[in-house]
Amino acid sequence: MNQLSPKATRTLITGGAGFIGSHLAEHLLDLGQEVHVVDDLSTGAIENIDALRQRPGFSHTIADIREEPLLAELVDRADVIYHLAAAVGVRLIVESPVRTIETNIGCTESVLKLANKKRKKVVIASTSEVYGKNDQVPFREDHDLVMGPTSKARWSYACSKAIDEFLALAYHRARGLPVVIARLFNTVGPRQTGRYGMVLPSFVLQALMGKPITVYGDGSQSRCFSYVGEVVHALAALAECEAAVGQVVNVGSQQEISIAGLAELVKELTGSTSRIVYVPYDQAYEEGFEDMQRRVPDVSRLESLVGFSPRMGIREIVESVIGFYRER
Ligand code: UDP
Repeated sequence: MNQLSPKATRTLITGGAGFIGSHLAEHLLDLGQEVHVVDDLSTGAIENIDALRQRPGFSHTIADIREEPLLAELVDRADVIYHLAAAVGVRLIVESPVRTIETNIGCTESVLKLANKKRKKVVIASTSEVYGKNDQVPFREDHDLVMGPTSKARWSYACSKAIDEFLALAYHRARGLPVVIARLFNTVGPRQTGRYGMVLPSFVLQALMGKPITVYGDGSQSRCFSYVGEVVHALAALAECEAAVGQVVNVGSQQEISIAGLAELVKELTGSTSRIVYVPYDQAYEEGFEDMQRRVPDVSRLESLVGFSPRMGIREIVESVIGFYRER
């Protein structure tokens, strides 16, 4: 199946049938790399990789990476491992807390342990969620992580990803494993599903179907959205960058928009007649739910390492998501 140069980098993407993973697979194939995707389709979808299946250098396995013998074989065959498999999405995390913690910690532990045996480079996808309730703006990689109480399920996601980061850095420092940790900020684009609570696909679907656009809280909370194509470009560049080894790097855009502003923009660009409704957090998620008010990355480390950061404008991004859902 592989018709690439025998020297092509062989990559393994865990969670490669997910939203970000499938875009990363496509980008790495475009770069001439050989790509193997492993995904259990728990939140990923086979349609995400349909178009890739005919491409030279692409292969995939549908399996749970907690099956260690299988994961060991896949790790052995790769030069670089992008570990994206995780429980993601605030709704999923609030609704499936056991799965979040077990998947996020257990899988990363297995990937690092197996990669370390063969000294394979690992790029870990972490999240801006780890900054928690820190109110410094922008977030720099060495800022404190400020978590809420363990009684609130949301924080299990941040804590589980923080443990992943500690473990990856420990493997690097104590055993010399080449690792790079990318803290991804809100990433959006075609193929992202609203099923796990992500705001942009939810708003676009609501607007296109003429249903109320549900803004949680008072809508003054803001986020910086980056286009998935630029995010995967950054991930691939970080994997190639020697100076990024052993580092934590923010990956995101600095263009900030309030959630109420995003709802207005989606309404305008879809031409929808949907109403914008405000839903209290307690109803949207769970009693006592805590949201982050702002989340802006400092991208100077990313820029100094790879020479760029995501910049696509929010209108263009929203239009790409509308185009994707209209086609469907
Ligand atoms: N949100 C919203 N309506 C929705 C889904 C999400 O107002 O239907 C809000 C959510 O409360 C948060 C922001 O949009 O303030 C971003 O949510 P998302 O789950 O996409 O990402 P987060 O930044 O919370 O990880």
